[in-house]
Amino acid sequence: MIIHIRRTKPMAYKITEECIACGACADQCPVEAIKEGDVYSIDADACISCGACAGVCPVGAPVEE
Ligand code: SF4
Ligand code: SF4
Repeated sequence: MIIHIRRTKPMAYKITEECIACGACADQCPVEAIKEGDVYSIDADACISCGACAGVCPVGAPVEE
């Protein structure tokens, strides 16, 4: 019998150019997937798509891919 295994991890969030680098999202991420920068970025492999970053961002920069 052949068993097919499929990844069930949901799509990661990403941060758009709207980011003003306030840092609020990085403090909220439970898996520390958010990296500082002129525009913050999300490690797609680490992100568990909890949405916490989107919930605190003042400009709505984190979006689901
Ligand atoms: Fe972190 Fe959750 Fe945002 Fe993914 S969706 S980067 S896990 S806060
Ligand atoms: Fe950028 Fe929004 Fe994160 Fe602030 S909360 S660093 S504006 S993505």
